[in-house]
Amino acid sequence: MNASLDEARAELKRAFGYDDFRKGQAPLVEALLAGRDCLGVMPTGAGKSICYQVPSLLLDGVTVVVSPLVSLMEDQVSALVDAGVKAACVSSQLSASEQGRVLARAANGAYDLLYVAPERLEDPRFADFAQRATIALVAVDEAHCVSQWGQDFRPSYLKIGAFIASLPARPIVGAFTATATERVRADIVRLLELRDPVQVTTGFDRPNLRFSVEELSDKRKLARIMAYVTSRPDDSGIIYCATRKHTEKVCAALVDARIKAVRYHAGLSTEERAANQRAFVNDDAPVMVATNAFGMGIDKSNVRYVIHFDMPGSVEAYYQEAGRAGRDGEPSECLLLWNDGDLQTQRFFINQDSENQELTAEEVERVRTSQRQRLERMVGYCTTCDCLRGYLLRYFGEDVDAQAKCGACGNCDGGFEAVDVTKTARSVMRCVHELRGRYGKGIVAGVLTGSKSKEILERGLDQSRTYGDAADASVAEVRRVVELLAADGYLEISDGQYPVVGLGPRCREAAVDGFALKMKRTKKVAEGRRAHMGTFGSGRAVADLDDPAQQDLFERLRALRKRLASEAGIAPYMVFSDRTLREMCLARPRTDEELLAISGVGVKKLRTYGEDFLAEIAAGE
Ligand code: ADP
Ligand code: ZN
Repeated sequence: MNASLDEARAELKRAFGYDDFRKGQAPLVEALLAGRDCLGVMPTGAGKSICYQVPSLLLDGVTVVVSPLVSLMEDQVSALVDAGVKAACVSSQLSASEQGRVLARAANGAYDLLYVAPERLEDPRFADFAQRATIALVAVDEAHCVSQWGQDFRPSYLKIGAFIASLPARPIVGAFTATATERVRADIVRLLELRDPVQVTTGFDRPNLRFSVEELSDKRKLARIMAYVTSRPDDSGIIYCATRKHTEKVCAALVDARIKAVRYHAGLSTEERAANQRAFVNDDAPVMVATNAFGMGIDKSNVRYVIHFDMPGSVEAYYQEAGRAGRDGEPSECLLLWNDGDLQTQRFFINQDSENQELTAEEVERVRTSQRQRLERMVGYCTTCDCLRGYLLRYFGEDVDAQAKCGACGNCDGGFEAVDVTKTARSVMRCVHELRGRYGKGIVAGVLTGSKSKEILERGLDQSRTYGDAADASVAEVRRVVELLAADGYLEISDGQYPVVGLGPRCREAAVDGFALKMKRTKKVAEGRRAHMGTFGSGRAVADLDDPAQQDLFERLRALRKRLASEAGIAPYMVFSDRTLREMCLARPRTDEELLAISGVGVKKLRTYGEDFLAEIAAGE
């Protein structure tokens, strides 16, 4: 007899303390319980883990979870054990004899969940265990790692298919990812050999995240970050930088201002990275300044903001990093700072980066072309006048009208002015056409504004027909228009040391009557946003707790959580999420039963922490 969805719901409440499944979870859980393979595509923070964790409690046999990172596995396993779930992981962190013990216990049915890194699957000891054990389900986390089209391709993921095929009885296979593109999805189904999988793609919207973009010079970027972080000293946040140098600079500035910030990038020792990550996860250092080396597998749920100090290379990367904010569903902010210089940095990365030695020259070129296209779409996000949320959702293939407004992003708030630059854009198109794609942005802008610089005069470009055509615009504005046109495919900017501007695939569309181009006047954005931030002030996490007594209770519960977590040697968010604490402040439960009714309080947590929390809540009455 297959377990029913009702039984699954009961397990969800008992073990995890949640009242109901979230969007997308129920059909996936139901599919797995019915013995069907599945592919779940959900954004970061949507709750993919529950989709296989709950079935693992109901299926006969062990669920093997393949996950790319050891640190992630360890965190998940300790959170599960804390919730009373029988889980373990085998990783290279354990000695051979420890691994042997875990596997022997697993073969005897001691665990519902066994986490492994993909490399382990080939280990003879693991293969031996797999032949003896009853494996009910193989859950593949971050399944996009199997695809070369994804960003995080891991060759070891290619071995998962063979591993499953080698098992005496074929288990159910569930694959989970936050990467939605058609190509990656097809690769997952093919390479993991999923059998007629139930595919569930939930919407990519994260309603609790507020997106905004500001164009600022490097110096003002830093000032902006300092003001932002100091105005919310208790909140946890991540600041992403494109380079190690920026990471060092931003972290040092914060530390100078007595903010407890730590850094993370590939140039640090393994020990320092691990220590800094711990400090951040445990709320000892609320601010993490990092390159994109940080974050995969961090499921700290109370990250209240993610700021990008530099523009990332693609919208996928941006959404993944920004998505680490607000996993607990509480209001959180995603702020992206950028300027023209960031583009040079990203173009440099594209041209230089070819670590993957398995690729042929032709493949490298193909990867670069796709990276270039992705970068243009990222620039599009930075420069669009449309709703930012809408832009992101359209990027991920959702059907959202370009005119639609979410009312809760930096662009919808209307903190900037949309300037009509159609006339300049037409001049730019004519000029690029005339110069036949031989020059860079600077020369194009120089010609159009009628510059008398040496570069222009020496080449005789003051004789061009379009010379001085946009004399009323500034050089900076013309450059911006060039970028905008390139982001929309009207122009194309080559890369290499001297990028030149040529006509793009959509160049003809710019010549038709209905063509119009708007540009964000960015100065106003910064000012508008600053005023806005002022009204938010600090302590966003308790924004919904208007009553000072509730806010006070929230702070006390947070301190209690921190103490209990450090006693238990786990991260605070593993005890209870911010959201759960907030609900406690609103509901003020007095009994076990009332406490159990709060989302995030399961039976095991009630037993472990209930008394302390009830006492703290009662103490304020
Ligand atoms: P993902 O792997 O999709 O990024 P997680 O599995 O880490 O997301 O879940 C994100 C957060 O949402 C976690 O804190 C998790 O406990 C919480 N969560 C998951 N499912 C539910 C649910 N049904 N109700 C409430 N919270 C949930
Ligand atoms: Zn919006």
